[in-house]
This record gives sequence, structure tokens and C-alpha cells, in this order.
Amino acid sequence: MSQTQVIKVTKDTMKKMKTYYEKNRLNRTVPYSDFVAKVGNTTITAYTSGKVVFQGPEAEKGAAKWGTPAQSKTSTSTSSSKSSSILPANFSQLSVLGSDEVGNGSYFGPVTVCAAYVDKTMVAKLKALGVRDSKELTDPQIVQLSSVIKELIPYKLLIVEPEKYNQIQPKYNAVHMKVALHNQAIYLLLNEIAPTKPEAILIDQFTPEANYRKYVRSEQNQVNEKLYFITKGEQYHVAVAAASIISRAAFLEELDKESKELGMKVPSGAGANSDKVAAAVLAKGGIALLSKYAKLHFANTEKAKKIAAK
Ligand code: MG
Repeated sequence: MSQTQVIKVTKDTMKKMKTYYEKNRLNRTVPYSDFVAKVGNTTITAYTSGKVVFQGPEAEKGAAKWGTPAQSKTSTSTSSSKSSSILPANFSQLSVLGSDEVGNGSYFGPVTVCAAYVDKTMVAKLKALGVRDSKELTDPQIVQLSSVIKELIPYKLLIVEPEKYNQIQPKYNAVHMKVALHNQAIYLLLNEIAPTKPEAILIDQFTPEANYRKYVRSEQNQVNEKLYFITKGEQYHVAVAAASIISRAAFLEELDKESKELGMKVPSGAGANSDKVAAAVLAKGGIALLSKYAKLHFANTEKAKKIAAK
């Protein structure tokens, strides 16, 4: 039986794996991957993020050598959803509008927010297509799945590019901005699917409910009914998983666009590599250029200025 196993490894383990699979390496380039190897009929794809995907009959055995899978999945199994006391009974099978966002913690790239509506008649189909927690999917899988999902269900995607973000940010703190974006995406999608109404709206929780409701009160178009908040929302309904995949794919595509425009590989996250790339952008076009690609209020900006001044 064909299997897929995904593990997350440290930089150290990744190095060891690279050496271990040296002789099995394939001369194949996969976006965002460090290396691809094949042992027997099992393919091993190691991503720069530390995610390693084993695919094939020996996936389980191969992955077990290096780490514990986040979720084991055989090609014939269907993952069952978790239940929670705060959500209505049989929640995963209801018609739900879900929302999630990506990019808030990344120095480069936009903040993307997506609301997606999954009618109960579409739940099984999306699950069968492999729509699940985007952390268990590779970047290429996310981009591919996103385009499939967009054809199948109604969704609203909002993208705040860095230039716009830098204008809004002094007035809205990060949480307030996220609340405004979730609320707006949900509002627009509700209008689009009307007169159909979801049985529930599930927001992948990023702030306490009271805080969310406080910030919504300052919005012009407010959605206040049937709202549920839960962390790891994608485990409770496939609508949040779909929203998460669409927003993640949009974020990756924007980063890719930034890399092409700047002529240098723009990283996700907010680590030392972001400082270095930002310094190169500063050298190229100063803060005016950087403001088009990065969230300037991050500490990375000051670090980049120091590197650029050397
Ligand atoms: Mg989230």
C-alpha cells in the first residue's frame, strides 16, 4: 500500500539525512526542497523548512528512522475530525464558513486572509482531495490544492501587500488588523453566498474571543452571529483547512513574485536570513524599495540597516 509520512526535523538531522541519502539522491529539483532521494520505491523529499516527506511502500519505516510523523496516513484512510465541547455536535459534517490567515509572522511578504464556505455536501469531496492541515502538506502541494479548491467552493481572499500594511500598521496593531480582515472576508463571502447561510462560522483562533468581538465593534460591516473560535480550527472543519490552504498558497505566490521583482530569493519568516536579504534590498533601493516588500515595523529593519551600513 502506498503511504505518505511527513516528519519535521532539525537542521542537524537534515544534515545527517543529506549525507545518509547521498548515494540515493535524484537529480530532480522541487521548489523549496533541499534534496530528493529514492530508496527502492520510496521517494524522500526534504524541504528547506525542515519538513521531510516520505512517499511509497516503505514510507513508515523510512520516516521512523528520523522522527515521529505529525500524522500517519495511508492512501485508503480518511482522517476523522476532532470534536470539541464548545462546538455544536457533529460539527465537522455541518455547512461551515471557515477563515484563517497567513503571513503575520513573516518579515517579507503580505498578510493573506481567506474565508471559505464548505457546504455539508462538499465535506467528503474536499477531504478525499486531501484538504487538511496545511502544516502536513508541502509547499508545492499547497499551491496545487489551492487552485483545485478555488474551482470547487466559494471563497474570499484578501491580500494586504507590505506597502499597504506599512500604511495601516501605525493605526491598527497586528491583532486589530487581523480581526478587521477576518471580519471583512467573512462579511463579503456571506453576501456572495446569500441567500444560503452557513450553520456556523469558524475562525481559526488567534486572539481571545472577547478581544475579537471588541475590535469588530469598530468595523463598519460587522459579523457577530454564529461565530465560533478555536485554535487548530482546520482539525475541526475542512472549511478552515481550505481557507488555510488558499491563504498559504497566496502568501507563497506573493513571496515568489517579490523574489522575481527583486532578483533575489526572498525568505519566509523573520530570521537572520531576512536581515541579510533586507540589507541587500536597502543597498539596491533604500527604505523606499524595502517598504514595498517587507513589514517595516519588524526588528529586522533595524538589523538590516546595521548590516547595510557596514
Ligand atoms: Mg491560523
